[in-house]
Amino acid sequence: MPGFDYLPRRLRRRRRAKEEKMTFVVTDNCRKCRFTDCVAVCPVDCFHADEEMLYIDPDECIDCGACVPECPVEAIYDESQLPDEHREWIAVNADKSKKLPVINETGDAFPGAEERKKQLGF
Ligand code: SF4
Ligand code: SF4
Repeated sequence: MPGFDYLPRRLRRRRRAKEEKMTFVVTDNCRKCRFTDCVAVCPVDCFHADEEMLYIDPDECIDCGACVPECPVEAIYDESQLPDEHREWIAVNADKSKKLPVINETGDAFPGAEERKKQLGF
């Protein structure tokens, strides 16, 4: 990724705050859904995808938070607000994102995504 001097001061501050090792995390609600609304707003290429869901690369994420309100199934959390039952997803995102291709364009949701969204209560 190029230098981040072009970013607003707020984002540069967050990037520097990486020393604190906080990030954003995709959790189980994304599975079989993949609406990709999150990808459309992410200012850096930190989303990676497999056949089921997306993952955030913690080293690329600048912690802007833009993706959180975009997700229709509330799958994305600020790590600091991650419920205990989702803690495992921190390591899953870190691991999977390094092995999978970047996704930086929106695409069609999975067939059945709307049904799953209803099942999840959204
Ligand atoms: S918007 Fe939510 S459900 Fe859709 S791909 Fe992103 S994290 Fe997954
Ligand atoms: S918080 Fe979300 S939108 Fe912002 S850089 Fe990280 S993954 Fe991308």
